[in-house]
Amino acid sequence: MPILAPPPRFSATVPVLVAGGGACGLTAALSAHDAGAEVLVLERDPTPQGTSSMSQGTMCAAGTRMQRDAGIDDNPDIFFSDVMEKTKGQTDADLVRTVAREAAPTVEWLTATHNVPFKVDPSWRGLGHSRQRLHSVPEKTGQDLMGRLVQALERAGGDLLTNAHVTDLFADINGRVHGVRIRRPDGSTEDIGCGALVLATCGYASNPELVKKYIPDMAGARTFTWENSQGDAVQWGLGLGAAVADMSAFQGYGALAYPQLQLFNYNYIIDGGVMVNTLGQRFSNEVADVSGQGVHVMRQPGSIAFMIYDQVLHDRYKHLHETRQAMELNAVKFGNSPDELAKALGVPGAALSVTLNDLRAAKHGQKPDPFERVYKDCIQLEPPYAGIKVTGALYHTQGGLVVNHSAQVKRNDGSLLPNLFAGGGAARGLSGPTASGYIPASGLCMAMTLGRLAGRAAARLTQNLES
Ligand SMILES: Cc1cc2nc3c(=O)[nH]c(=O)nc-3n(C[C@H](O)[C@H](O)[C@H](O)COP(=O)(O)OP(=O)(O)OC[C@H]3O[C@@H](n4cnc5c(N)ncnc54)[C@H](O)[C@@H]3O)c2cc1C
Repeated sequence: MPILAPPPRFSATVPVLVAGGGACGLTAALSAHDAGAEVLVLERDPTPQGTSSMSQGTMCAAGTRMQRDAGIDDNPDIFFSDVMEKTKGQTDADLVRTVAREAAPTVEWLTATHNVPFKVDPSWRGLGHSRQRLHSVPEKTGQDLMGRLVQALERAGGDLLTNAHVTDLFADINGRVHGVRIRRPDGSTEDIGCGALVLATCGYASNPELVKKYIPDMAGARTFTWENSQGDAVQWGLGLGAAVADMSAFQGYGALAYPQLQLFNYNYIIDGGVMVNTLGQRFSNEVADVSGQGVHVMRQPGSIAFMIYDQVLHDRYKHLHETRQAMELNAVKFGNSPDELAKALGVPGAALSVTLNDLRAAKHGQKPDPFERVYKDCIQLEPPYAGIKVTGALYHTQGGLVVNHSAQVKRNDGSLLPNLFAGGGAARGLSGPTASGYIPASGLCMAMTLGRLAGRAAARLTQNLES
C-alpha cells in the first residue's frame, strides 16, 4: 500500500475525504457535513455495504434517552467499568472513556438529526454488559442500518462515490496527507486532493497474510467477514509512521449455521439454551464470553457445535431475520425428546439426554454447573426441543490505528499525524489484546462513535486551515 509523493495537481480537491463507506465512513461523512465541511466518501464497492451490512445492526451506548425511556439506569461510568472488567484492564482506558462518553450522543444525534431511529434492544443482556445498552434500528439488521445511513447522507446532501477503490495515499515528509488515488472498475485512475482524510476501510480479517502475522493462532481459521477488509488503513498508517495496537485481538462468533454459513441469533443461548459438541456434551460456559465462544467452537471436533434450545424460545425469537432465514434453509431441527432431537441433529442420543438432565439440575440449583454458568432469567428447556448445527468463525479484527479523543491518528511517540483520522475497524478497538475482550456491539459502537468524532474533527481542522 504505497505512500506516494503528492502530484503537482489533483483532478479535484475536497476538504474532507472519507475512504470506505461502511457505518464508520457514512457516519463520519454525516458528521463532517453537519460541522459545515464539504465531504466525499470513496467506496470500493458498487453499493456501500461492508462488514456493517453483515452485522445485526446493534451498537452499545450508555445513558441514552432511549434507555431512560425504557427505565434503564445506565451511564458512561458503568459502561467504562464493564469494558475494563471484560478486558481485565488490558485495554486503552482513555479510548474506552472517550467512547463510553460519546456513544450516547452519537445514537441520539443519528436518531434526532438524521432519522436513523435507534431503540434499546432488551433481548440482549449480560455477556459483559451489566445494563441493557444495545441499541438497534427497528429491523435489527446491518443491511437496514446501512440503508438508513445511506439515505441520511443523501438527504443531508453529502457526496458518495462508489466503485472508487482507494489504492494509494499522497503524503509529504511530515506525514500530511494531500490526497488519494482511486482506481475505477475500468482500470482508470483519478487523484483527488483533500484537507483531511478519514480512514474507514475496516480491519484485516480478509487478508490471510495479515491474520497470520498478527493473529497466528487464527491463521487458516474460517472467517465470516467482508472481503474488502484487507487491512488497507493499517498498512497506510504504518507507512506514515502511525502507531498500531492490539493487533492480536478479534471478534469471534460461534453461532454460524452450518453448512449454510448464516449468522444465527445468540438470544436462544442468553435465555437458557446451551451448546454441545458432536459428542452431545457441553464444552464451555456459553455466556461467559460470546466472542471467545467462537474460539471454543472452532476447537471442537470438526469445528462443529449444536445450539440446543426449545419450542418456547423458538417461538420467542421466530420473528427475527436470522431465524426466518434459518427456517427457510431447513437448518433448525425439532424433536419431542432429547433422543428425537439428537437423531435429527446427528449427535448421540444418550449423551444429549445426560447433558439436558444435568442442565435441568443445574438450573434448579440441584447440581453445580460444570462450567459455572449462572442461569439468571433463563427458562428450563422443555420438549419439544430445537437445535441447529453451527460453526465458529473470525468476524472482524480489533487491532488497528491508535487514535486520540478526536479519532485523530497518533504516531508511536504520541504525536499526531497532521490530518489523518480513523474509526471503526480501521482503528484499535476496545477489546485489548484478545478475542475474549470483545464486548458485544462494540464494533458498530466504534464505527459510529469514532466516525462522528473523526468527521467533526476533520471538518474543524480544514476550516481552521482555511481561516
Ligand atoms: C457477521 C457479523 C456480525 C456482526 N454483528 C455486529 C453487531 O451486531 N454489532 C456490532 O457492534 N458489531 C457487529 N459486528 C462487527 C461490525 O460489523 C464491524 O465492527 C463494523 O461494521 C465495522 O464498520 P466499518 O465501517 O469500520 O467497516 P465496514 O462496514 O467493513 O466498512 C468498510 C468499507 O470500506 C470499504 N473499503 C475497504 N477498503 C477500501 C478501499 N481501499 N477503498 C475504498 N473503500 C474501501 C469496504 O468495501 C466497506 O464498504 C459484526 C461483524 C460480523 C462479521
